[in-house]
Amino acid sequence: MPFNKYSPAMLEESSNVTATAAVNGDTPGAAENDSSVELTNDNSPLTAAEPPSPFSLKQNGDAASPQDGNQCSRGSRKRGRKRPEEEEPAWDSYCENKSVGAGQLSLRQRPQRRTFYQAGLTTNGHNKPRRQNRKQELSVLLYVSGLQGAAAGSPVAPETSCPDLMEQDSKDSAQSSSTMSSSETQPEYSDNKGFGIGELVWGKIKGFSWWPGIVVTWRATGKRQASHGMRWLQWFGDGKFSEVSADKLDSLTAFPKFFNRASYTKLASYRRAIFQALEMASVRAEKTFPPCESDSPEDQVKPMLDWANGGFLPKGEEGLKPAPSANSNPLDHQILNVSLHEYFAGAKRAKPNFCKIKAAPEESCSREQMVNEVRKKKQSIEEFCLSCGKMRAATFHPLFEGGLCQTCKDVYLEMSYMYDDDGYQSYCTVCCGGREVLLCGNANCCRCFCVDCLDILIDPGASNSARYQDPWRCYMCQPLLQYGVLKRRHDWSMKLQEFFANDNGQEFEKTNIYPAVPAEQRRPIRVLSLFDGIATGYLVLRDLGFKVDLYVASEVCEDSISVGVVRHEGKIQYVHDVRNITKKNIQEWGPFDLVIGGSPCNDLSIVNPARKGLYEGTGRLFFEFYRLLSEAKPKEGEDRPFFWMFENVVAMGVNDKRDISRFLECNPVMIDAIEVSAAHRARYFWGNLPGMNRPLCASGMDKLELQDCLEHGRVAKFGKVRTITTRSNSIKQGKDQHFPVLMNGKEDVLWCTELERIFGFPVHYTDLSNMGRGARQRLLGRSWSVPVIRHLFAPLKDYFACE
Ligand SMILES: [Zn+2]
Ligand SMILES: [Zn+2]
Ligand SMILES: [Zn+2]
Repeated sequence: MPFNKYSPAMLEESSNVTATAAVNGDTPGAAENDSSVELTNDNSPLTAAEPPSPFSLKQNGDAASPQDGNQCSRGSRKRGRKRPEEEEPAWDSYCENKSVGAGQLSLRQRPQRRTFYQAGLTTNGHNKPRRQNRKQELSVLLYVSGLQGAAAGSPVAPETSCPDLMEQDSKDSAQSSSTMSSSETQPEYSDNKGFGIGELVWGKIKGFSWWPGIVVTWRATGKRQASHGMRWLQWFGDGKFSEVSADKLDSLTAFPKFFNRASYTKLASYRRAIFQALEMASVRAEKTFPPCESDSPEDQVKPMLDWANGGFLPKGEEGLKPAPSANSNPLDHQILNVSLHEYFAGAKRAKPNFCKIKAAPEESCSREQMVNEVRKKKQSIEEFCLSCGKMRAATFHPLFEGGLCQTCKDVYLEMSYMYDDDGYQSYCTVCCGGREVLLCGNANCCRCFCVDCLDILIDPGASNSARYQDPWRCYMCQPLLQYGVLKRRHDWSMKLQEFFANDNGQEFEKTNIYPAVPAEQRRPIRVLSLFDGIATGYLVLRDLGFKVDLYVASEVCEDSISVGVVRHEGKIQYVHDVRNITKKNIQEWGPFDLVIGGSPCNDLSIVNPARKGLYEGTGRLFFEFYRLLSEAKPKEGEDRPFFWMFENVVAMGVNDKRDISRFLECNPVMIDAIEVSAAHRARYFWGNLPGMNRPLCASGMDKLELQDCLEHGRVAKFGKVRTITTRSNSIKQGKDQHFPVLMNGKEDVLWCTELERIFGFPVHYTDLSNMGRGARQRLLGRSWSVPVIRHLFAPLKDYFACE
């Protein structure tokens, strides 16, 4: 993946990236995805002082363990605030112990013990909330405390599925009240950084996008006092708590700056959070909205969004302040339990009303019904959505027998190639959800399966027994048998390809297939490479023996250009910024036989919650590719073989993907470099290269195992590694974040030469005098995988001259 170093303005836009996905429990935290998604500092005024350092290990310093308090370990969830020593779940400690070993077994999600119930608990890097199951999202508890310590003894009992919850909460608040007097005299947050208790804010912690919350007292959290310069926040949407640096807070009035339209469109949890935040804001500002005529939820919420985007007028910031005696303001002591339905219904009410609606575990029911229908009534599972249980599936599930509804399909397209920091899939392989997932113990498998899928689809006790198997093998790694109603497709690998390539509703004409050119008539190839990166295209063409007549490369990264210039001895003609290339240039330089490129993806990648999509920021560079491709294409009547290829990340919004496909007039193929190299790297490729969708086959020279890529005397701890990105962290593996190599009995990072072998580059390819390890990983982390490009370019040998 090429470098993105455009104008300062654009850089500024694009660096406004947190390489993490949104959001409190809804999408996972940091994902591996891409290459160009750099973990720069968030470029907000609040953090602008910090120098961007994409390669420093991003420590969890500003984030307390992300809250996973609401995530329960199983159906009969107990959110009791018990002393952990007394009631540590047995299997959990078991897992912890086990994980010392191979580090394979396990349930990634740990039960509540860590965040909620341990006093003085320190940061835990792994402790990341899972995306909650969608049904889980329906039952949300926002537990908002107002001023002072009397945290939560709310009179409003939420009708959730956890009857013991209130009791426990009340206990807590009793406790809080009793300890309150001592520190009541001095303000809890006295570091002069503002953001007092009750303030409505945007907050940012590692692994999450900016998210609305309310500053609360530590007593509301069941934890400990916040460190100096930190605030306890309770997040809207799920009611969980985090300790957040005051420097990573901004007023809710900065709404236009932090509100993320894409997340809002896609993530129910984000919508809910926004709605709750605005509802509380409107109560405080005494703002009412006229009843809405429309039944559409969007129309109903729109006035609130407009109000927020317009600066919360007429009162503005002043209106959002907590009431001075919020202690006595019942609204600030509410326990909110806003369901998804409620959230939409809410905007209709002239007067907000923190209403509680019983969360109906509909999906769970219907999945259980589905299982019933399939087992008892012998209905075909292909008719159901395996992910949510809905009847009338819109398409097939790519891996297992069964269908997917349209909604779940879109989720699957976006989410299934997201990986977490530990290198494992972010979501369940079956349902692309799951609040608690089991990690496959097969060293080369990065898959997760959620507890619900196991218990519902396989057997009610399946997840429990899986917990005690070490290693547990996932249902992609186990023998091809029927497990409950879950059965892997024997042709899943083809189906997977088909699933990602064919997007119903978007049929395109078959691309022109050019007849092969007789050998004696083949000419040397002429290439236009946009966002060229480190000349991978040129390298592969040369490796394949092509005679290259002309290779024009647009690239703006000086380091990348140096690599191309030095390694290819000036054969590449560099033309710098793609945006400056004109139609006239193309005519002068052309004709071209091959146009290739992968535009920077940080505004497309779904791991970037601040992504601007296809039409803003670096996403727009796609249109530069499109523009120049159109210019370079043979004109009407001009009869010559012409090929092109456009690459991008798989984890992009389905709408962006569909838009790209519409422009390029074809669907992409999805290729994961794992099949021809020692590392994962799933990418979409659009184009008209012959045989693009043929199965990927490793050749004898491909280094399929990490061990094959290592220097002498070094031992691979893993067979394969996760996707390597520009982030140094991306070479850590597994849930324990091990470095993948053993040398002299010690763990070690991957050396640059080893990285180069993993990507299929010649050793020392990026070894230029001035470049350190970080710089080299940055170049490689954006690059294409050489064997994949070889696979794609090889059929061109029927058209162009070779040596
Ligand atoms: Zn579904
Ligand atoms: Zn699942
Ligand atoms: Zn597996």
